[in-house]
Amino acid sequence: MKVKNFLINNNIIFESHLPNFPGRPDFVIREKKMIINVNGCFWHQHGCAHSNTPKFGSSLWTQLNNTKTKDAINRIFHESRGWNVLDLWECSIMDDQGFHKISNLINNTLKIDYEARS
Ligand SMILES: [Zn+2]
Repeated sequence: MKVKNFLINNNIIFESHLPNFPGRPDFVIREKKMIINVNGCFWHQHGCAHSNTPKFGSSLWTQLNNTKTKDAINRIFHESRGWNVLDLWECSIMDDQGFHKISNLINNTLKIDYEARS
């Protein structure tokens, strides 16, 4: 997975899917109080072409709406405790150009100083 490899390559210490952490985020970087989620466009209802409206029964729609609501609640919960929450969409990191933007965003948020490390 792209984001995971990026973090490993930059020696960023993270934890994934902690069972007792609300929302079980994809990546938790405690040192920087940062949470990174890579959300699937369909399940998290991004609204882009990859989250096309399917002709499913109402139970699936309820489930999708619940996922979206839980995302929002978790975000507010973590931000109110001083965490920096970065929600990434699957579609935005698919191509290299998109991923380049995302890695810059992560870098800026974490303020990694490459020159100091080399
Ligand atoms: Zn999307």
